[in-house]
Amino acid sequence: MVSADGLCCKRCGGSDYARSGVVRGHQRYRCRTCGCHFTDTPLRGKPPAMKALAVLLYGMGGMSFSMIGRVLGVSDVAVLKWVRAEAAALPEPKVPVAAVTVEIDEMWHFIKNVWPAPSASVFRDPV
Ligand SMILES: [Zn+2]
Repeated sequence: MVSADGLCCKRCGGSDYARSGVVRGHQRYRCRTCGCHFTDTPLRGKPPAMKALAVLLYGMGGMSFSMIGRVLGVSDVAVLKWVRAEAAALPEPKVPVAAVTVEIDEMWHFIKNVWPAPSASVFRDPV
């Protein structure tokens, strides 16, 4: 919810606020809904659209973190953190129950039962 002058709470987005002093030359406001103090300054950090573009370029474009950082004018570590944050927000992938796990030491028994035993002539020394 944005008030008539375009100002809203930076935490909850509410437009019910009161003036609450001055901080570093900026008028400070207090949200009546959540009690958050805020000023009429731009939000910190990069816009969500830039973060979404970085995630798309990484996931679908195959670009590296440093290349995305150079294109967008941010550090490669910032791009890494954006991608990790998006990945953490994703739901856990659903694995079908029918998946069979075979350990490496079981593979010998599996192959022995499926494939026929090699004949002795294969391993015979040609001399
Ligand atoms: Zn608020």
